[in-house]
Amino acid sequence: MPHDLSPAREIAAEEHDSYSILAGRADAGLLLLCDHAGNALPEGYGSLGLPPEQLRRHIAYDIGAAGVTRRLSAALGAPGVMTRYSRLLIDPNRGADDPTLIMRLSDGAVIPGNRCLDAAERDKRLRLYYAPYHAAIDRLIERCTAAGGKPPVLLSIHSFTESWRERPRPWHVGVLWDKDAELAGALMERFWAEGDLIVGDNQPYSGQLHGDCLWQHGTSRGIANALIEIRQDLIRDGAGQAAWAERIGRIVRAVLSDSLRERAPVLETGARARPIRSTANGEGAMTKIDKQLVTELEAAAFRRLVEHLRQRTDVQNIDLMNLAGFCRNCLANWYQEAANGRGLELSKEGAREIIYGMPYNDWQARYQKEASAAQKEAFEKAKPHQH
Ligand SMILES: [Zn+2]
Repeated sequence: MPHDLSPAREIAAEEHDSYSILAGRADAGLLLLCDHAGNALPEGYGSLGLPPEQLRRHIAYDIGAAGVTRRLSAALGAPGVMTRYSRLLIDPNRGADDPTLIMRLSDGAVIPGNRCLDAAERDKRLRLYYAPYHAAIDRLIERCTAAGGKPPVLLSIHSFTESWRERPRPWHVGVLWDKDAELAGALMERFWAEGDLIVGDNQPYSGQLHGDCLWQHGTSRGIANALIEIRQDLIRDGAGQAAWAERIGRIVRAVLSDSLRERAPVLETGARARPIRSTANGEGAMTKIDKQLVTELEAAAFRRLVEHLRQRTDVQNIDLMNLAGFCRNCLANWYQEAANGRGLELSKEGAREIIYGMPYNDWQARYQKEASAAQKEAFEKAKPHQH
């Protein structure tokens, strides 16, 4: 049967004042969203009173997200909607009544242009820079539904900073979700299977924000949706964006062709559950679930061992070595080797701090006793391996 290539199935690229539409097939089964794509400001707003370099920071937009979304759209032939203006003007990923809709302060930076907003200015921003983006999403959902016979899966692309309040964020990628455990679970399962990624489950923050973009268009209507957060240092340049678009494209294609075709809609009132890790594949998937569970149990036992060793400061490392041929430092070494084996950088000192719960030097100063002659003799005799 010949393929239907009628023009109605093709969504053309469009540029509007506050958003752009990425071309794609209306029946691709997928609509991409990028709420924080741009850092521009409309004429007359200057730089909202900020030094211009602040507009190049993450506070103004999601660094790298637009580049990933464009490439992903091209690779999958899926349409998309992206914002043009900075979230500092108005944040399209907030409900219209959310107090953080127009930020007065963002990550330490005061936004002078947002300090004294009257109702008229707020309404103007909602009307010109917020509503058109959401209306465009609704229009595309309608077109895609008409062409595909069912609503498209909504996938929102964002990026997050590599650290927050001086704490590094270890995740390479996070899947944020609210009610739709199935789509999020299937995506996370595929990210985990990549083998080289630390994947956040509703990390670095939760996707359960009432009124946000996916809530408005997906959750509240029972349309499958998920949000992918990529760490911004990985997608700062074109090469990183291309690599991540390729990776996400491969994963999304697999997820869409898997179980989601026949899935039942997720009701807004449905029970919230942790993602079920793809159970639709039968035997293989069950094995994966079990493996994950086993890993979690092993980790729990490891944490108790570490906790126990932290409590029992009377037990000296040399006692452990003499009796069993290992000590806290061996545990730290094993931890470090496991991390390095997965391509994670972790220093010896860092690994020891994880085991001891404090810098190794501090622990030694507090709890390590001078070894007795007998302990030293036993150590010499057993000659446990050096570390
Ligand atoms: Zn974002």
